[in-house]
Amino acid sequence: MLDWLIVGGGIHGTSISNALVKTGKSTHENLRVVDPHPEPLAVWNISTSNTGMEYLRSPGEHNLDIGSGGLKRFARERHSGNAEFYSRYQRPTLALFNAHCKSLIKENDLAELRINATALSLKKMTSSFVLQTTSGEIESKRIILAIGSSDCLSIPTWAEVLIAKACPVAHIFSPHFKQQREKEWGRAAVIGGGISAVQLALSLAKEKPGKVILIHSKVLKTNQFDADPCWLDARCLRLIKRQSDFGERRRIVDNARHWGSFPEEIRRELDLAIRKGALVCRLDSVLTATGDQSSVKLKMSSSEETEAELVVLATGHKRCLPGGNFIKQAINKLDLPCAPCGFPVADEYLRWSYGLFVTGPLAELVIGPASRNIIGARFAGQRIISAEVQQRQQIKELKYSYFERRRTG
Ligand SMILES: Cc1cc2nc3c(=O)[nH]c(=O)nc-3n(C[C@H](O)[C@H](O)[C@H](O)COP(=O)(O)OP(=O)(O)OC[C@H]3O[C@@H](n4cnc5c(N)ncnc54)[C@H](O)[C@@H]3O)c2cc1C
Repeated sequence: MLDWLIVGGGIHGTSISNALVKTGKSTHENLRVVDPHPEPLAVWNISTSNTGMEYLRSPGEHNLDIGSGGLKRFARERHSGNAEFYSRYQRPTLALFNAHCKSLIKENDLAELRINATALSLKKMTSSFVLQTTSGEIESKRIILAIGSSDCLSIPTWAEVLIAKACPVAHIFSPHFKQQREKEWGRAAVIGGGISAVQLALSLAKEKPGKVILIHSKVLKTNQFDADPCWLDARCLRLIKRQSDFGERRRIVDNARHWGSFPEEIRRELDLAIRKGALVCRLDSVLTATGDQSSVKLKMSSSEETEAELVVLATGHKRCLPGGNFIKQAINKLDLPCAPCGFPVADEYLRWSYGLFVTGPLAELVIGPASRNIIGARFAGQRIISAEVQQRQQIKELKYSYFERRRTG
C-alpha cells in the first residue's frame, strides 16, 4: 500500500510530489502520480506553447520548487542571470521556467513516480483508499486530487457545430488546436479578449501581418496579474478564512479574479501591431457561423461578416466542477461536502475528508483566486504537509491527556 497517491501530474501534482519528496514526507517507493499523459506537465506544455507566449505572467518566485529562490538560482547557474527575466516583476521567460521544471523533475526522479492511467473511481476502506484506474486498482493511505480544469473548456454553441463538421475551428487549449494551426491559412480570427487571445493574435500577426482579426465581446482591460497580490497572504485570505458560508466564499473568489485581462506591456505590443496594420481588433460577438472543411464565415451581432481559414477560440474555461464522472462518483460514494457551486468544502489543510486532499481549482474556496496558479501548488503542498504535522500533534495530545487522566485519576 502507498502512503501518497496523487491524481494528476500537471503543475500541481508535480509540484506537490516534489515537495513531499524534498521535505522527506515521503519516499519514492511510497508515492505515485496517476496521469494519462506519458510526461509530467503535458497540459501546461501544450497550452503555453499554443498561445505563443514568451514570458510568464507571474514572477520568478512562483515556480515548482519548495522555496521561492529555486528558479533564480537555476538561472544564475546557467549563467543567464537577469537576462531571462522581464520587467520589474521579474517574469521569467517560458523557456527558462520550462528548463527549471525539467531540471527539478530529473534531479528528484519525479517522472519515475508516474503511473500512466486515468482515475475512474474512488473507494474508501477502513484506513485507506482504493483508486480504480484504467490500469487497475491502487491502494493508498492518502489521495491528493490535482486534476486541473482542462475538461472545462468554454466552447460557444455555434463553434461546437462547426468542430463536429471538422471545420477549421479549435479551442486554443484543445488537443485539436495543433492540427488546425499547422494547416495552411490565409486569414485567421481569434475569439476572446484575455491574455491568451491577445498573445495568440500577436503571434499569428507576426507570421502573417494584416491577416488577423481579434474579436472580443467585452472592452479589453489590462491588469498586471490575474488577481491582486494581496491574495497571496493573510491580507486578503482572511476574507475567506473567516467566512464559513462557502456560497459567499465563491462570490468573493470570483469577484477577486481579473477575468479576461492582460498586462500593460502586452497592451503596448497590441497597440503597436494595430498601428502597423498587422492586426485588427473588433468589439463584437459572433452570432452565427457557417463553414466547411476549408473556411468559416462568422456573422457578428453588428451584422458584419468575416471569413477565415483558421478560427481559434481563446474563450478560456467555463465555471464547471472539473473531473467529470470521477469526481461526481467520489462525491456520491464518499458523501463529500460541497458548496452550492458544487466545489469541495475542504478544511484549512485542504482535507475534503480524512486522508483525501484537494489542490488547484478544487481548493479554490480555501486558497482563493491564486489556487489555480503556480503559486497555488506551493501553498497547497505546504498545507497538505502541515496537515500531517497537525495530525501527529493531535495524536500526541490525545495520548498525553489519556496518560494524564490515568496518572491523576
Ligand atoms: C496559457 C497559460 C498560461 C498560464 N500562465 C500562468 C502564469 O504565468 N503564472 C501562473 O501562476 N499561472 C499561469 N497559468 C495557470 C496555471 O498555472 C495552469 O493552468 C496550471 O497548469 C494548472 O495546473 P494543474 O496541475 O492544476 O492542472 P493541469 O496542468 O491541467 O494538470 C492536471 C493533470 O491531471 C490530469 N487528470 C485529470 N483528470 C484525471 C484523472 N481522472 N485521472 C488521472 N489524471 C487526471 C490531466 O490529464 C492533467 O495532466 C497559465 C495557464 C495557461 C493555460
